[in-house]
Amino acid sequence: MMITIEIDENSGFCFGVVNAINKAEKELEKGKLYCIGDIVHNTLEVERLQKKGLITIGHEKFGELRNCRVLFRAHGEPPSSYCTAKQRGIDVIDASCPVVLGLQKKIREAYEEIKNSGGQVVIYGKKGHSEVVGLVGQTNGEAIVVDNEEDIERIDFTKPVIVFSQTTKNLEHFQSISEKIRRRGGENVKVYDTICRKVANRIPQLRDFAARHDVILFVSDEKSSNGRQLYVICKEVNERSYFIHGREDLKKEMFDKAKSVGISGATSTPHRIMKDVAQEILNITK
Ligand code: SF4
Repeated sequence: MMITIEIDENSGFCFGVVNAINKAEKELEKGKLYCIGDIVHNTLEVERLQKKGLITIGHEKFGELRNCRVLFRAHGEPPSSYCTAKQRGIDVIDASCPVVLGLQKKIREAYEEIKNSGGQVVIYGKKGHSEVVGLVGQTNGEAIVVDNEEDIERIDFTKPVIVFSQTTKNLEHFQSISEKIRRRGGENVKVYDTICRKVANRIPQLRDFAARHDVILFVSDEKSSNGRQLYVICKEVNERSYFIHGREDLKKEMFDKAKSVGISGATSTPHRIMKDVAQEILNITK
């Protein structure tokens, strides 16, 4: 019997990533272009753009460049990167996601509002994550990054506290951490839920999707934190969930007695790769 295959229509690039890739492709037509960090957490897609002339660099190399074009990817950059570009005659192609730019602005305003009273901006996020570096940069490096309950101890609850979240964090974890902060600080605490719904809304949708199929193939790169997180959700719902990079990871035994297969992916997984996987399933289960 023919196996049924469904590609999760909610997976694939979010509009922030689509926008960054489109900008990169357009600019690459004009010649060499640098990008700070991987434009998307997907090796195959990065390699595709590298072949077109995109050069991925770190902040150190960025600080050494002069008179060239550099793309700021969807994660956004701190104010110091814009200053460096200006000083060194670098033309910035700003592909920061509008959602991230909006959050940077809110954080900047919150910081201005409370800095004179000794207040603290708290960001629920992963320390060192590029988006978080861009957010902390809005507060002159003073924001407190909280990733777990222990980090809460670094907050001074006798002073005002304004809490935000990195856009791609887990909504339930954010609610739980912010509730603990609120309980400790009472009226001194304001909480803004700034999680991007493009990621958060996917969790309930993905649970339904994973439950609907005999086998789930989750296509992602280990570099994608969003991908690793979403794969765990699939595995919780469907024991026969596999984390794969692409068609080369498929094995016939994965589909033993399966009537339906669901293919899903992270917000950094190109649809093209999921389609390839679907085609390969048909080939190996013939
Ligand atoms: S996940 Fe949301 S905030 Fe992040 S790049 Fe995509 S659309 Fe923008």
